[in-house]
Amino acid sequence: MLKITVCPSCGSDKIRMVRRDWTGTYNDEEYVVVKLAFYECPRCGEKVYDREAMRRIEARSPAFRNGTGGRSSATQRKRARAC
Ligand SMILES: [Zn+2]
Repeated sequence: MLKITVCPSCGSDKIRMVRRDWTGTYNDEEYVVVKLAFYECPRCGEKVYDREAMRRIEARSPAFRNGTGGRSSATQRKRARAC
């Protein structure tokens, strides 16, 4: 598990792990990842996602669907950003 103690955006040490339903939008289409665990900074609103969170978001995101029927492929996996 990724461990973050300082916000990469504003440097606040108040950043903490939260777990809640997360809503994203892609081309005006909303999608929800239920009970997603990620880091959120209460000071600047910065959100940091670890690999597991990214994977869950990508599994839900219309951006990664691309007519593959929801199956993730090796090609898609390469797109994940390293945190
Ligand atoms: Zn911050």
